[in-house]
Amino acid sequence: MLFDTHVHLNDDQYAEDMDEVIARAKNAGVEYMVVVGFDRKTIEKALEIISEHDLIYASVGWHPVDAIDMTEDDLQWLEEVAAHPKVVALGEMGLDYHWDKSPKEIQKEVFRKQIRLAKRINMPIIIHNRDATQDIIQILREEHAEEVGGIMHCFSGSAEVAKQCLDLNFYISLGGPVTFKNAKKPKEVAIQVPLDRLLIETDCPYLAPHPYRGKRNEPSYVRLVAEQIADLKGISLEEVAQITTANAKKVFGID
Ligand SMILES: [Zn+2]
Ligand SMILES: [Zn+2]
Repeated sequence: MLFDTHVHLNDDQYAEDMDEVIARAKNAGVEYMVVVGFDRKTIEKALEIISEHDLIYASVGWHPVDAIDMTEDDLQWLEEVAAHPKVVALGEMGLDYHWDKSPKEIQKEVFRKQIRLAKRINMPIIIHNRDATQDIIQILREEHAEEVGGIMHCFSGSAEVAKQCLDLNFYISLGGPVTFKNAKKPKEVAIQVPLDRLLIETDCPYLAPHPYRGKRNEPSYVRLVAEQIADLKGISLEEVAQITTANAKKVFGID
């Protein structure tokens, strides 16, 4: 049984065939998923999906790319929707220096506000990081995010950075890139990070694993991520599935 900890089934790319995508996931052994919403539209869609599917949960947050759009009302609304019994984390939140829609200072402020909210309501957080590792670590430390902990989603940093994140009470979640032939760093991370601190995800529809690279991703492919980790660690797929699912249930508080 597998747990895909980060999906965007709320993306328009699944408007036509979401039921088939979910059925394929179940057939591949993917029982649990967390649908991540990162603005009003995707959060509303995520809430709709979790009301229709038993083992699909949601995370709600504000994406750093759109930080400039977040109002105080939005933050208040995040707190309200976070009270839903199937909302299990806040995020994705963080910093994204690849796109320049939102200035860095605004991204940092919106990130800090969401960490403070998570601490107030005691929920784990899902971190999105693109080209901003040092600033992310600094803010997590300054805000004492270790009190709630959470997930470094689609982790692409080095094994040393992974260690710093573990020390901050975060799990490392690996996605499709760990399966790419030239992905030295994620493979090293898969080897170095103890299995009881690893999670798996697709981040679908993005970042499809090998051999689907460049195509639309979907939760059934998370099995390929698990197989790659099993290979790198020299253990069975069953063990990876069992431990990463237990880890995900623990961080999200699902029994
Ligand atoms: Zn992300
Ligand atoms: Zn995402």
